[in-house]
Amino acid sequence: MKKIAIIGFGCAGYHAAREVRRLDPKAVIDVYSDTETAAYNPMLTTYYVKGAIPYQAMFPFGAPQEAAGRLGLNLFPNRAVTGLKPEERALCFGDGTQQVYDGILISTGASAVVPPLPGLDLPGVFKMRTVEDAVSFKAALDGGTIRRALVIGASWVGIKAVEDLVLRGIACTLADGAERVFSTAVFPETARRIERGLEARGVSVACGQMLDHVERAADGALAAVMQSGRRFEADAVAVCLGVRTNTGFLKDCGIAVNRGVLTDCHMQTNYEGIYAAGDCCEAADIQTNAPRNIGLWHNAARQGTVAGSNMAGDVREFGANLLVNLGHYLGYSFVSMGDLTACRPEDEVLISEDSRFYLCAVRGGRSAQMHQRDRDAGVQRSHQERFYQVHRKSWGGAGSPDRLLAAAAGVSCELYQLFRRETA
Ligand SMILES: Cc1cc2nc3c(=O)[nH]c(=O)nc-3n(C[C@H](O)[C@H](O)[C@H](O)COP(=O)(O)OP(=O)(O)OC[C@H]3O[C@@H](n4cnc5c(N)ncnc54)[C@H](O)[C@@H]3O)c2cc1C
Repeated sequence: MKKIAIIGFGCAGYHAAREVRRLDPKAVIDVYSDTETAAYNPMLTTYYVKGAIPYQAMFPFGAPQEAAGRLGLNLFPNRAVTGLKPEERALCFGDGTQQVYDGILISTGASAVVPPLPGLDLPGVFKMRTVEDAVSFKAALDGGTIRRALVIGASWVGIKAVEDLVLRGIACTLADGAERVFSTAVFPETARRIERGLEARGVSVACGQMLDHVERAADGALAAVMQSGRRFEADAVAVCLGVRTNTGFLKDCGIAVNRGVLTDCHMQTNYEGIYAAGDCCEAADIQTNAPRNIGLWHNAARQGTVAGSNMAGDVREFGANLLVNLGHYLGYSFVSMGDLTACRPEDEVLISEDSRFYLCAVRGGRSAQMHQRDRDAGVQRSHQERFYQVHRKSWGGAGSPDRLLAAAAGVSCELYQLFRRETA
């Protein structure tokens, strides 16, 4: 009987456990979690803060014991794995005990980055990653005493925090150290449109502002002081500066870790029988061929499933690591597909725009971005749906890199043609 260990019970861990159980009804599956909170969907936390979904809706797989019962898992809540002995395939725990397995999955996800700057531990400073973070942010906003807020980090998470604040009528500033919002994710023109969309909803955007520290102002409010000397006073500060992979417990154990745990096409690490999946790992990006850490729900689910399949002995490849992000904020949507750094100066750039819709597609670089107002004319909605459809079709296939790349390149041109024809 195979003995499998899964470290971390988030999206990747859950999907791996489900796949092992599907393929091997007899396997012993031990799941170790450093929390007793059920596996949750972090991307729903900002919707909970907004009041758009109830608390329970953040937990797609149900209560931990319910999920464990359904899949026949031995679940160990509040039992963090503190080390790994890869040669022995052994997990180490804080109490000095060890457990040996036939297969191990590292699916420990990522945590919010909170830089070691003075004042970030003051009451009224929030981070945005976990259910607990969302609960305390929502409670503060529900308290009704926050009238001005500062969001630091113009990221996919930061923009959702801004939305949460604006919808409650709270005056909001979005600050970022880079010269434009989403500086590594979207083209300058897309960024300009996002900034204009935010400003149209009353948000003040302050780029080129690197945080130095947070302090308590004379009137009891918080003041975020930037390296430029500029001060932003606010009743609440939300820190959305990205995430760091939870790989500290692997330090010096021999498992190869870059930004995340390095994996091959089977999601296997540099040790046979030890796999990694989800936000904690890096898999080969099919655009650049270099390992890349992609923190996306769909990626975590798919990588977990592939790792689970391989641990159960049914050999499968994960062939579809490609950057795709979509954001909705305050009545706007934007989608970014592909890697900006994969675009070359000689690539053909296709641009279509009108007052509501902007599409930029780089044919050779296989990158495409759209920014548009939601719920506008049907033609624009149909473009967005087409974008998703082509993309989903490519994901839904066998995960073939060729299909996915063709779709990324094809969708740009296809959308461009559609747009030209339908708006002529
Ligand atoms: C606010 C927010 C918005 C997002 N929006 C989107 C979006 O719009 N679209 C999208 O695709 N993705 C989005 N994401 C990303 C997406 O949620 C993640 O990619 C996905 O949840 C990753 O799943 P995971 O299983 O790899 O990691 P996690 O969900 O982080 O799970 C890892 C688990 O491992 C546990 N753990 C860590 N260390 C140990 C240890 N040593 N021992 C035992 N257990 C441990 C952790 O506590 C955690 O429970 C968003 C994320 C956030 C935070």
